[in-house]
Amino acid sequence: MSSPSSVTRLLVVAEQKDGVLNRASWEAIAAAQTTGQPVTVAVAGSKAHTGAVTAELAGADVAEVIALEHDLLAAYTADGFTQAMCDLVKQVSPSHVVFAHTYQTRDYAPRVAARLDCAIVTDVIAIKDGPVYVRQMFQGKVNADVVLDGPAPHLVTLQIGSFRADAVKKGGAAAVKTVAANIDAAQIRQKAEAPFREAKQAVDLTQAERIVSVGRGIKAPEHIELAKQLAAAMHAELSASRPICDAGWLPMERQVGSSGQTVSPKMYLALGISGAIQHVVGMKGSKTIVAINKDPEAPIFEIADYGIAGDLFEIVPAIINELK
Ligand SMILES: Cc1cc2nc3c(=O)[nH]c(=O)nc-3n(C[C@H](O)[C@H](O)[C@H](O)COP(=O)(O)OP(=O)(O)OC[C@H]3O[C@@H](n4cnc5c(N)ncnc54)[C@H](O)[C@@H]3O)c2cc1C
Repeated sequence: MSSPSSVTRLLVVAEQKDGVLNRASWEAIAAAQTTGQPVTVAVAGSKAHTGAVTAELAGADVAEVIALEHDLLAAYTADGFTQAMCDLVKQVSPSHVVFAHTYQTRDYAPRVAARLDCAIVTDVIAIKDGPVYVRQMFQGKVNADVVLDGPAPHLVTLQIGSFRADAVKKGGAAAVKTVAANIDAAQIRQKAEAPFREAKQAVDLTQAERIVSVGRGIKAPEHIELAKQLAAAMHAELSASRPICDAGWLPMERQVGSSGQTVSPKMYLALGISGAIQHVVGMKGSKTIVAINKDPEAPIFEIADYGIAGDLFEIVPAIINELK
């Protein structure tokens, strides 16, 4: 993020679930740190949950960490989080509020903006001097430059994978402050139910460090097992391009791309994936991309750090053997 005079004090909203930080919080902190301006990090939840993550957050090179606590923040509700965050923003009075574009923030960050009557830009993939926010439109076909207008604060949500979590400057020993969230229970209209991710087979690919991703080159559902074996040997999660999920060969939650999840693992291994734009927007933030494709002209090789032009049915068993 650039550091023009309008960026003077940033509030980064980190996210935790049951006392475990969402990895994307580090991406938001890294982006905010690039301004060189003071960064305050807030994390909302019950006392037990925020208490589990504040020390970790305070290890980043930031000015302050705020534990925004209330029993009613133990489970996410849009009304509870909106009330608590609006009140905190008024107290901290930042020039910018930065969120990772998670399922939660895409739900309540626009409400915070509406209630504070300030501008918001969502799903930002890059920030240029100005600040000018870059966000994709039309399924990633066009990048739009967005400049926010109106009084501070400006709210920004960052697409997961667009900024590097491992770029966070650590080594800080930030003070941790507890703020009792101001919530009126009567104003909470939602009742939290068990999230669908609690299902046993559910997976949050955004948190995966290694991913083996399967495309139509795998040819038949019975060959998915081969990719599973490779994923197991690499201690990786399994994901897929859309046609694989559309065909029911893997569940929808494992789809990567513009209509699936956006991922940013340390390593993304694409097996028989051509590299269509709708797939690439979901994985281009991966640190190292390896592609195996029998077509040496496949577009996936344009973004791959390492490419193997060949038949995955010969190459994958050889890799599994080597790893074993
Ligand atoms: C609105 C919209 C949203 C979309 N959203 C998504 C999305 O979220 N995610 C997504 O992935 N797609 C999405 N798509 C679909 C996207 O456009 C592509 O059609 C899709 O990504 C292609 O999947 P693929 O690469 O697996 O298949 P293909 O494009 O068919 O590519 C298969 C590749 O496998 C290679 N191959 C074949 N055999 C072998 C072999 N034996 N060894 C090695 N390589 C082999 C081929 O050379 C080829 O490059 C969307 C499309 C639209 C219109």
